[in-house]
Amino acid sequence: MDRQGDDSWAAMMAAVRAFHDKHELRRHGGEELSYRVALMAEELGEISACVTKGRSKDSLAEELADLLILLMGTEIAADVDLKQAFWKKMEALMQRESRMIGGRIRVSDFNHVD
Ligand SMILES: [Mg+2]
Repeated sequence: MDRQGDDSWAAMMAAVRAFHDKHELRRHGGEELSYRVALMAEELGEISACVTKGRSKDSLAEELADLLILLMGTEIAADVDLKQAFWKKMEALMQRESRMIGGRIRVSDFNHVD
């Protein structure tokens, strides 16, 4: 498996794919999207707890990695191109304006109506 130092998207995705293959996640329901959303919500809660309980940076980094791995695995589960979506979105974000709302900056499409 690729290790730290090889930070290319391809190497990271290969590692996540190897994890999915090792445990046969697809065959055992681990790639069902509703289940993955629940798992991602769980990890988001763990990230939140790190912040609100003042846990160490190492703990926070571990929980962030849990969420990142789930997101990357969801590329496999949902058969989407996450890297392409990332760059497309970054390009859009860089074109957006920011506003201060409630003392905090918000970068959004303020003309979009839900
Ligand atoms: Mg976790």
